[in-house]
Amino acid sequence: MKRIDLIALDADDTLWHNEPYYTEAQAEFTQMLARYHEPAWVQERLDRTEARNMAHYGYGIKAFALSTIETAVELTEGRVTGEEIQRILERIKRMLAAPVELLPQIAETVASLAESYPLMLITKGDLLDQQKKVARSGLAEYFRHIEVVSEKDEDTYRDLLARHSVLPEHFMMVGNSLRSDILPVLALGAMAVYVPYATTWQYEAAQAPAPGAEGFHQIEQLSQLPHLLGRLTACNDSPDAPAVTLVVEDDPRQADVDVVLKGLRAFNLKKTGRSDQRALTLFLRDHQGTVLGGLLGEIYWNTLAINILWVDESLRGQDWGASLVEKAEAIARESGCIQAHLDTMSFQARPFYEKHGYVLFGQMDDVPVGHQRFYLHKKL
Ligand SMILES: [Mg+2]
Repeated sequence: MKRIDLIALDADDTLWHNEPYYTEAQAEFTQMLARYHEPAWVQERLDRTEARNMAHYGYGIKAFALSTIETAVELTEGRVTGEEIQRILERIKRMLAAPVELLPQIAETVASLAESYPLMLITKGDLLDQQKKVARSGLAEYFRHIEVVSEKDEDTYRDLLARHSVLPEHFMMVGNSLRSDILPVLALGAMAVYVPYATTWQYEAAQAPAPGAEGFHQIEQLSQLPHLLGRLTACNDSPDAPAVTLVVEDDPRQADVDVVLKGLRAFNLKKTGRSDQRALTLFLRDHQGTVLGGLLGEIYWNTLAINILWVDESLRGQDWGASLVEKAEAIARESGCIQAHLDTMSFQARPFYEKHGYVLFGQMDDVPVGHQRFYLHKKL
């Protein structure tokens, strides 16, 4: 069973058509220069120029435009006319304004994925152009994060995952480029789903991982992704498998923790008829907003629980601890609470709480050995 915390989707030729616009522009360009050179030779030189310019211009239509003009100047030995350059620029403007044409079943597939997983869109290229395409696609609302990057390599993915606090083994990237969407992601130990597009830009071509390579999956179209996810995240559905398995998870998904909390709250509601439970959080901050202390508690039904009370060394002896407890009690009283409880260690603050009216009602010895944990109660 796989756990997936974040699914990232590539955009160009994964969600919408992109490469055909370039193919058409290249065909027009090679025809335009046909009186100077064979179209195949013009194409080869254009590919080389684009690859050479990648470090200067990055990806995208504007980078393509500059490489096309450079190739025209080179291959015509400076004889390309102003009118021909104009034709290239007009084609580039048409490409930039072209409507975003989604691949089959993309809208419904992305909408359904977004119901079960946080989605991220990772696309490389020109920031302005890619942002416009995302906006025109009508898909932006389904993505929790949209990242336009200048390169999709191991470093990029490593940084993105660190920034979003996602472990590689819980990350899945989906896209049409082996070079950009699949290989760097697999190298990090994440999952990668290859969805080939009809044509691949020569620069993006790469050797596919061996079938069965760890973390590598291939589907024919994105609409097959929910089915693949169902298989990967299913536990063991063989007839001999136990119906329930007990697992220990050191780094649980918040969504899974919420299932347990909601389950208990629903049970409590059924038994008490009351759903009034809420966290109570108080902080001490300096003028720059730095937290120097706080009280973390909970108001449940008619009771205040003080779970954590801490004050920075620099503020000790100034009664800030008392202020926090008194404020929490005041809020609790206003909320209809009639009592409060807390616990404290023998090396912590029992006398402080007793001074504020808390009374010992329980004690646990040897936590750790030689120390006690005290349980105190107060009527509000
Ligand atoms: Mg792509």
